[in-house]
Amino acid sequence: MEWKLTFLGTGAGLPSPTRGASCTALQLKGDVWLFDCGEGSQIQLMRSTVRLGKINKIFITHMHGDHLFGLPGLLCTITQNVALESKPALKIYGPPGLAGYLRQSLNLSYSILGYKYEVYELVDDIDEETAGEIPPESNFMPIKTTAPPHFDEAAYNLIHRQPDGSWLLFEEDGMKVHAAALKHRVPSLGFVFQEGPLPGKLDAAKLIALGVPQGPLFAKIKSGQSIEHNGAVINPTDVLGPERRGRKLIILGDTCDCTQLYKIGQNADVLLHEATNENKDMEKSIQNGHSTPSMAVGCAKALCVKKLILYHLSQRYKPVGEPLKEGELSVECLLEEAKASFDNTIVAYDFLSVNIPVNN
Ligand SMILES: [Zn+2]
Ligand SMILES: [Zn+2]
Repeated sequence: MEWKLTFLGTGAGLPSPTRGASCTALQLKGDVWLFDCGEGSQIQLMRSTVRLGKINKIFITHMHGDHLFGLPGLLCTITQNVALESKPALKIYGPPGLAGYLRQSLNLSYSILGYKYEVYELVDDIDEETAGEIPPESNFMPIKTTAPPHFDEAAYNLIHRQPDGSWLLFEEDGMKVHAAALKHRVPSLGFVFQEGPLPGKLDAAKLIALGVPQGPLFAKIKSGQSIEHNGAVINPTDVLGPERRGRKLIILGDTCDCTQLYKIGQNADVLLHEATNENKDMEKSIQNGHSTPSMAVGCAKALCVKKLILYHLSQRYKPVGEPLKEGELSVECLLEEAKASFDNTIVAYDFLSVNIPVNN
């Protein structure tokens, strides 16, 4: 199964003509999962090869506008891109307040979606007194909303944090999705996607030598089932190599500290980490809850990831190839700062696609 990331908005704070506000798509097996939805994300989607009607899960890292202001509009536009009667409920995951935000914006704009959506908020099961002792930026207490549910809201569920400090969002087709809290100016989340173990590589030459014709029998044994040919039973273990580790992907919201992710984020294949400012602005970055390339590298090394992708870049850094006026900087300076100590780094740009291959 293909895992393909497409960056639709790699800018921090606000959209610009050359870099959209935060939005990333993951295409898997015909489905599209969307991460954050800053203002203008639907236009970016229309310009890309990602199909709006295929979006069936949306993950919001935090409630800042540059990650969220595009969501109500996108939900309305999806209506025009799907067969409504057959559309399963769209699942939306995120921090406390997400359901209330959607109720208010969809109700007050008299929006009709025509399909159902479900909201899952990642919360802490704490009382108000305990919550009062927690700094607001790391407080995941549910936010009560007085707004009535929107007509198309099919469910509003709370997912409680587990004793190990992480949230288990769901487990589906062997894929486990967890989240952990990140340090930022408001409650922020990092999502971890762990694919289940994959069957070993098929030794096609061995099967052919046994006289099995290429075709459906190959596919059957590759999927882990025994086959019968010329009266003999061939088991997957006879012709498949050792089981392979599934892929692991980490997508982080804004942060200046991802230590809470260390337990669940180890040995990922790909890490998407913000790099809002360059290294010389580290102090200011931390004050604002953001990261520099060296901080992103620190996280990548602590998590033993294979590949680091920098995104959420200040609009101050111009895209590669754009002519620079005097005093202007290119995103290449962010890339160089990261590559100095973590070679397998790339810097994302809008409409970049990255395939995450299966481990061999
Ligand atoms: Zn942001
Ligand atoms: Zn933010």
